[in-house]
Order: sequence, then structure tokens, then C-alpha cells
Amino acid sequence: MAVAAPGQLNLDESPSWGSRSVDCFEKLEQIGEGTYGQVYMARETETQEIVALKKIRMDNEREGFPITAIREIKILKKLHHQNVIQLKEIVTSPGPERDEQGKPIHGNKYKGSIYMVFEYMDHDLTGLADRPGMRFTVPQIKCYMKQLLTGLHYCHINQVLHRDIKGSNLLIDNEGNLKLADFGLARSFSNDHNGNLTNRVITLWYRPPELLLGSTKYGPAVDMWSVGCIFAELLNGKPILPGKNEPEQLSKIFDVCGTPDESNWPGVTKMPWYNNFKPPRQLKRRVKEYFKHFDRLALDLLEKMLTLDPAQHKMHLMQSISGLIPYHVILKACQSMNLHTSSRPRKNANKCVKPMKLRRGKRHNILNHMAVCLQFNKQDSPILKSDQASR
Ligand code: ADP
Ligand code: MG
Repeated sequence: MAVAAPGQLNLDESPSWGSRSVDCFEKLEQIGEGTYGQVYMARETETQEIVALKKIRMDNEREGFPITAIREIKILKKLHHQNVIQLKEIVTSPGPERDEQGKPIHGNKYKGSIYMVFEYMDHDLTGLADRPGMRFTVPQIKCYMKQLLTGLHYCHINQVLHRDIKGSNLLIDNEGNLKLADFGLARSFSNDHNGNLTNRVITLWYRPPELLLGSTKYGPAVDMWSVGCIFAELLNGKPILPGKNEPEQLSKIFDVCGTPDESNWPGVTKMPWYNNFKPPRQLKRRVKEYFKHFDRLALDLLEKMLTLDPAQHKMHLMQSISGLIPYHVILKACQSMNLHTSSRPRKNANKCVKPMKLRRGKRHNILNHMAVCLQFNKQDSPILKSDQASR
């Protein structure tokens, strides 16, 4: 367990980080209770800026500052992108925390609390989707997917795996901007995928088959599986693979995607847990059948994202991603939700994104998928045959 005292978090490039007190902020309300700590909406008292404060939970930590928080901070410090949540600074609460009677609360050696200060976002995707009567329109789904893929692509080219892509970690503001958040399980990876990584990551419903089969050498394809699950969930109106435990999760995956064998996934029979989870009988791939109410283009994209073998993917060449939805179209789509109320256009609103360099394609090659997204975007009509089907 890595140990570091407050103020010594290897935040060399920003020496002021960690020097301010949480008293510089007025907590307004608690907005989240996560695995690792509470999240508050707060106001910076001097600038009046609204931020999110994520308290780093230290009560389970006997050995010092939690490694997950160190990772999250280190990774977020190097990521700067419009689709990745911005960590603004770290603040501390001075002295021991006190209980209601004013007595110091003991339990960890720092005796204070540490908070990450983030830009504030109005919603998370799960919260939005769970609102009664909420139906995302097809343009909204495209808009969110485009931003999710762009943010994730940025992480991957910076050699960061997110490893917990799911609705509650995708934050959305009232202008329709989507940002990846919660880098508590993220880590850096090397391109050769030779590292020994833990396979106990990614929330079960969004966990890819290679992790469930025990792989410890994996790469960006793991996040792409989760994106596929989110994409289908948005179109479907509910999670597509809600397993209760790991065996059930795999069996749900096999039910939809068919059973893996050496012909559709070379090497699968040698995966660590293949024999434990070997399906009793062969099942055919039924993605098209399950989601037959989706439009053909949406289905094509989903087929690629939910490929069983992470390494098996045809390379699609994409000339440019300049056809991605122009901002005013996104804005219009978002405004139709009645949530995204601001009409202030972002800087460079109608500028197209620069073409990116192409890389070899596998499941993780987001550009492939974006190429298919592009086909959606070029069409004026929705990708689904009917509005009812989008739910
Ligand atoms: P955990 O690791 O505990 O899941 P998260 O970073 O995912 O922590 O935060 C938990 C929840 O708090 C999120 O699902 C979201 O609802 C809310 N939240 C987190 N960060 C922000 C933010 N910057 N702005 C608004 N809400 C946030
Ligand atoms: Mg989270």
C-alpha cells in the first residue's frame, strides 16, 4: 500500500495543490455516495464557482493514503480533454474531524480529510435515464456516444484504461456535454498488453468476457465492451446483460453473443477459467435477433462492439471524422430534452474535429466504431426505424 502524507502526493507540477483548506468551499448538498467516498456540490466562497467535492474515504485505510485515490489523482492530472472530467485541485480539511460533540474522531493517522475538487456536472447518465418518463432520442444517444468515444479514445491514446465505464460514471451537464469520470479503477497500460493486470475490475454488467474468463493481459478492448453495453442499454431502455454473479454474467453474454471456441476466438480454450465456465452446449450468436428492433446501422455498430474475441476485428479505414455531428445539431437535440437549457454555444461550436491518425484495428479501435457512427450522422433520418424502438 502506498503511503503518503497530505501535501506529499507527488503533485510536483502543482505545488499549490493540497495547500488550500476545504473551508474555501461552502458545501451545498451531498450529490453522490460512492464506493470510495461522498460527493458534494459546493461553492467556492471567493469566486462563487460551483464545484463537486469528492471526499476521499480514509476510514478503511490503516496504512495511509488509499492507493486508488493516488491513482485517480495521478491519472486525472495528466488528462485534459473536454470529454474527461477536470480535476481542479486537492483540498484538505485541517485537523482532526470532530463528532457532533466536538470530540476528535480517531481512526486514521491523517486525522483530517482530503477532497478532490472537480468541475461540477448536473447529472450522471444513470440518474438521467432513471427519471420517470425519460426517453432519450436517437440524436441524444448519438451525441452521448460520440462524446463517450471521443473521451475514451483520448484516454486510450494516452495509455490509460478506464476500467469502470458505466452510466453513473458518465457525467452530463445542462448543455449536453458528457465527461468520463471516476478514474478510481483506471490505470496506465503499455501497448504490448504484457502487464499482469487484475481481472476483478469493471462493474459486472459491463465486464467483458476476457476478464470473466480470467485474463490478466488485456488492453483498451475491455472499455469498448462496456461502451457497447451502454450503447445497447441506451437504445434498449434497460441494461442488456444484468448478471447477478460472474457465472450468470458469462452465461448471459454467451446467450446473446454465442459460445466462444477456437474458431471464433483463437486461444479462448487456454484462458485461465475457460474450463470452469465452459458452456454445456454450443450457442449461436444472436445479437441481431435480440436487438432486431434496432436500426441496421446501430446493429452493425453493436455487433462490432460486442465481439467476443477482443483481438478479432476487421480494420475499417476512416478517412476523417470531420463529419461528426456539428455542435448546433447536438445542441438542438439536447434542448429537446428540456434539461439542457443553456443556449450558449461552446467555443469552436461548428468547427469539425481534426482527423485523427489511424491505428491498427481491433475491438478497441474506437475509430472503427466512430466511422460507423459517422454513417449515422450523415443521415437525416433517425437510426432507428421507429421512435418506440429507441426506448
Ligand atoms: P465512486 O468511485 O464512489 O463511484 P464517483 O466519482 O463515481 O465515485 O462519484 C459518485 C457519484 O457522484 C457519481 O455517480 C455522480 O452521480 C456524482 N458525481 C461525481 N463527480 C461529480 C461531478 N464532478 N459533478 C457532479 N456529480 C458528480
Ligand atoms: Mg462511480
